[in-house]
Amino acid sequence: MQNPEILAPPRVVRPGRPPAVPLETLALEATFTSELPGDPREAVDNQPRQVPGASYSRVLPTPVAQPRLLAWSDALGAELRILRPEHPAGPAVEVLAGNRVLPGTQPYSARYGGHQFGNWAGQLGDGRAITLGERVLEQPDGTLRRWELQLKGAGRTPYSRFADGRAVLRSSLREYLCSEAMHALGVPTTRALSLVATGDPVVRDMFYDGNPQAEPGAIVCRVAPTFVRFGNFEVHAWAREHDLLRRLADWVIRHHYPELGAPGPAVYADWFTEICRRTAVTIAHWMRVGFVHGVMNTDNMSILGLTIDYGPYGWLEGFDPTWTPNTTDAQGRRYSYGNQPQIGMWNLARLAGSLEPLVGDRERLEAALEVYADSYQRTYRGMLAAKLGLRTLDREGDDELIAGLFQVLQRVETDLTLFHRNLAAVEPGSVTAGGEIPAPLRAAYYDDGAPTGAHREALGTWLVRWAARVRAEGRPDAERVREMNAVNPKYVPRNYLAQLAIDAATAGDVSVLERLLSVLERPYDEQPDAEEYAARRPEWVRHRAGCSALSCSS
Ligand code: AMP
Ligand code: MG
Repeated sequence: MQNPEILAPPRVVRPGRPPAVPLETLALEATFTSELPGDPREAVDNQPRQVPGASYSRVLPTPVAQPRLLAWSDALGAELRILRPEHPAGPAVEVLAGNRVLPGTQPYSARYGGHQFGNWAGQLGDGRAITLGERVLEQPDGTLRRWELQLKGAGRTPYSRFADGRAVLRSSLREYLCSEAMHALGVPTTRALSLVATGDPVVRDMFYDGNPQAEPGAIVCRVAPTFVRFGNFEVHAWAREHDLLRRLADWVIRHHYPELGAPGPAVYADWFTEICRRTAVTIAHWMRVGFVHGVMNTDNMSILGLTIDYGPYGWLEGFDPTWTPNTTDAQGRRYSYGNQPQIGMWNLARLAGSLEPLVGDRERLEAALEVYADSYQRTYRGMLAAKLGLRTLDREGDDELIAGLFQVLQRVETDLTLFHRNLAAVEPGSVTAGGEIPAPLRAAYYDDGAPTGAHREALGTWLVRWAARVRAEGRPDAERVREMNAVNPKYVPRNYLAQLAIDAATAGDVSVLERLLSVLERPYDEQPDAEEYAARRPEWVRHRAGCSALSCSS
């Protein structure tokens, strides 16, 4: 008889990469709680309260009735060296639902404040997020990488204020789906490891119309090097806790910006400059892919420049810079697509104000804000060039080319994703001002119609200009098309696609979500069997709840 040991393929263990372990056996570190001062009131007391003089409170998740695993990210699991739970309701899932606390860990919720819609809101904090601890892994280059594992929707905390600490399935699924899709799109973001149904109902007034309804509850285990936000610093500055402010900055720099060196006034300034640069790059990516965050309050801005806190976000379909998915913001449109770069600056200015006691030098902070503006301009312009199949946008006439593009996109309802993706398929040699609209572009138009009349002329004129500009660079077509397709996604988590996944998951079928996730894992690839996921939004979803407008009620 053959020995099965010999037949099994040899296991490849890369040096420095520990074998993957079952989640329920994870050993987690806790530098945040061991290096920073916490709430003197011990865990288990989740009474809402002000928590002066602390960066966090120890909290225990509140158990749920019937946890069941709905989704698990194999890609992130592999990165974290954590095995996919063996059973949809086994011990790993109990950890992910908050029903079981990992031995040796002391979960906590962070204290932070924030400016909400332009106004200082005081102490907010993790009202429904509980961090389990930090998974530390050695990188191939020998450096350590830290990953914070956090449950969102795991029950009340001292920061829950008037709310229940829970999350509904629809919003949890949206966070899970979008953060993994953003990662695949190359946008800096927090990640999501799992989505667990709790079996408990959660009551929400989804339309704010006085008709609260019970909905299924869920918990996402989300993951990032750290979930520290601008607001964690703002709260300490506001409460004049300058020692805490410095200790928190030192913790962030030591563990997450080690390349900047030992903390001190000059390093604090360098650090803020780097936050500005990263935030600029992330927001440029949002503009590239048509993502609208929806609630860019300073408590939703990551200190690492990641996209964080997926709530009433949305994806631009018809190009409209004033569009926001957030119904709460329908009046002011503060957080609309086109305002995002400017809001990034406003938020960074609030952070600058909070860091002033550390940096001392106001001019250095102001210089960093200029770095934000420059980095944004440079990054976004570079992306726009690539989106148009150009190496640069620094020739004479390029400003007019860009202005013309945005005019053309706004004249009639034009799908931003499809316009850019399909532009690559337009043969520059074939366009003429008065001619037919190139076939690939027709798919980008809503109202089931390619533009006519004056608009068609404007589009033709712009295309001629674009084609001439492309030819002037003299790049081989195949190379240009390849590069355009690498920055213009074909597949994005369109609002209605997420809603279809939610409808199915609510009825107990997660296959729609799984299929959608598998398509969104490769957003730049042609996937011939997934054409319907790339189509423009069908007309029936135009006025359907959840498909274009969303409330914060999640
Ligand atoms: P957001 O607008 O979702 O970023 O949330 C703003 C603040 O409200 C944060 O402090 C959240 O933790 C808190 N919050 C939002 N929803 C809930 C909830 N269901 N229970 C407790 N706190 C919440
Ligand atoms: Mg938030």
